[in-house]
Parts: sequence; structure tokens; C-alpha cells
Amino acid sequence: MSPTPPFWREKPLSAMSRAEWESLCDGCGRCCLHKLRDEDTDRLAYTNVACRLLDGDTCQCKDYANRKARVPDCVKLTPKRVAAIDWLPPTCAYRLVAEGKDLPWWHPLVSGRAETVHEAGVSVRGLTVPEREAEDFEDHVVTWPGRWPPGARNRRRAG
Ligand code: SF4
Ligand code: SF4
Repeated sequence: MSPTPPFWREKPLSAMSRAEWESLCDGCGRCCLHKLRDEDTDRLAYTNVACRLLDGDTCQCKDYANRKARVPDCVKLTPKRVAAIDWLPPTCAYRLVAEGKDLPWWHPLVSGRAETVHEAGVSVRGLTVPEREAEDFEDHVVTWPGRWPPGARNRRRAG
């Protein structure tokens, strides 16, 4: 008998339990970077400026439970929002699952280790500028949050 497939291959986002949904986040922190939207063209640009609650080393929110109260424009992801928003990075597990793709080798649910998201170069660790130091966000436009890092593609799947 073949082993039971993991939940993210079997269930759509809308059918996941809360625990499954939360575990899907790889902890990369890419969605917590400020983004700029061109008013005329609607074009999106990522910046390397971190939300004031993002810890640039652990890549975790410093007050996840109260994030909406402290940062009103923090977007709480839901299955509907995942389908509608255009700024989730291509490595984001919610986006991958919504697009019918599998999780990569470095995702903690696959590797069994939270560190692999950093080892693969997917997380924002060491790459961000704190909001209070950034001044003009336009000076901090970067493209890497919209791409897969080479280390995330090339290594063989662990385990
Ligand atoms: S980009 Fe996706 S996987 Fe990464 S921290 Fe944000 S929600 Fe989690
Ligand atoms: S409040 Fe927390 S979860 Fe929301 S964008 Fe900021 S760091 Fe990320």
C-alpha cells in the first residue's frame, strides 16, 4: 500500500484545519517586506524594508497574535486572499499550494527543520532594512523577493 500523501497535496487551502494552515507558512518573512504600487500602472515593486514588527534575524513577527492591532495594514491571509493578491512571493507555500504545486525540499514540513528556509536563501534573514532607518522606500526597491534563489532550486530534496 502506498503511504498517505501529506495534507498539502490532498487538500485545497479552504479545507485545511487551522493547524495545517499555520504550519504551511515557511517562516521566510518575504511577505512582511514593504511593497510599492505605481499609481498609474498598478505595477508592484518589492523593497527590502521590513515591517516594524519583523525580526530581521529570525524572520518571525514579533507580535503575531496582535499583529492586526499593531500594524493595521498587515494582511491576514485566507484562501480567498491568496487567490486574489498579486504580491505573494513565488516561493510562498500558500501560493504554491493554490497553484497546485508541491512544497520544495527546504520547506520545514518537508525537511523537518525550520533552518532549511534560511539555508536555501529563501528567507529574508540578513537582507532587510528596518523601517525606522529606511527613509525613502523608493531607494530600497529590490527584485529578489519576486524570484527563487538559486540555492532553493538546485539542491536535492532532503529526506
Ligand atoms: S511569504 Fe508565505 S510562506 Fe513566507 S512568511 Fe509569508 S506567508 Fe509565510
Ligand atoms: S505585522 Fe507581523 S505578520 Fe504583519 S507584516 Fe508585520 S511582521 Fe509581518
